[in-house]
Amino acid sequence: MRILVTGGAGFIGSVIAASLIEAGHEVVVLDDLRYGHCAAVPAGAGFVKASVEDASAVMAAFRETSFDAVVHLAGEASVGESALDPGRFYTVNLQGGINVLEGMRCTGVERIIFSSTASIFGEPDRIPITETNSQKPINAYGETKLAFEKALKWYRRSFGIRHVSFRYFNACGATATHGEDRVKETHLIPILLQVVLGIRPEITLFGTDYPTPDRTCVRDYVHVADIAQAHLLGLDRIDELEEAAYNLGSGTGNSNLEVIETARKVTGHPIPVKIGDRRPGDPAVLVAGSDLAREVLGWDPQYAHIEQMVQSAWDWRSNFPDGYPK
Ligand code: UDP
Repeated sequence: MRILVTGGAGFIGSVIAASLIEAGHEVVVLDDLRYGHCAAVPAGAGFVKASVEDASAVMAAFRETSFDAVVHLAGEASVGESALDPGRFYTVNLQGGINVLEGMRCTGVERIIFSSTASIFGEPDRIPITETNSQKPINAYGETKLAFEKALKWYRRSFGIRHVSFRYFNACGATATHGEDRVKETHLIPILLQVVLGIRPEITLFGTDYPTPDRTCVRDYVHVADIAQAHLLGLDRIDELEEAAYNLGSGTGNSNLEVIETARKVTGHPIPVKIGDRRPGDPAVLVAGSDLAREVLGWDPQYAHIEQMVQSAWDWRSNFPDGYPK
């Protein structure tokens, strides 16, 4: 297939783009490089420097190349930022997504895989979180991702555009060639590695008064290579799938303190911690039930333990301490 990967210069997008190429697909990456890196775009992929906010640039990309499918990842993804600037999340995550759908509609592209998030569930009514949990986001990030999931349903009904949404829990880890490198880092594991590398003096732990065993938030970490595997399976089956949304997590919860301890063990660094206030918009516990992806798609994640995931992130960071060439 010839596939447009929006956000394909970012962390998860670049790993997916590389996996698609490895599987024999043709890939064009569309990315504005606001968060992504030119050097992360895999060899062999075409590249269009454009933002999904720019409707005419998106349309031009669709007119330039005839695509069989889209993998749509481009978007704003920081929970903390979404509390500070919700409008931007609507502009990029919802309107940007609509621009992509309109490009598809006008050029007859009928398949899209969407990068969604555990944040669509908000404070979960049940753990593990399955696809049948209620969807009540508690931050603008989750709200805008959910809004786009709903838009997909209407584009399917009106125009026959087939979609699969993958709700990633906490994507992490790295491959030999691709890892996490953001200008303004907000995620737990890469921040811990920045402390190890001396880029930050300490980590601020956001909240120690949650209703969890060690009073810190619990998250479900899932390796980026396993996320990429799910996308390949989804693309293979998209024409026949009934279920259109799948949760992707390892099914194991790790508290923030456990992740910090794991990073200390993997890196051999003491990693000083400062206790801070809760971060607005953070649910206490997010752990996935991913049976549907396993049963329907045959998803078979290879990374089960947080230690393997942190180790792979650390291996990449050790090989590329400055991240991607800028
Ligand atoms: N976190 C933290 N300090 C940081 C960054 C993150 O304590 O500097 C916590 C955050 O509050 C959350 C967990 O780590 O409980 C995972 O946050 P991250 O931003 O990595 O992913 P999210 O769960 O928001 O997608």
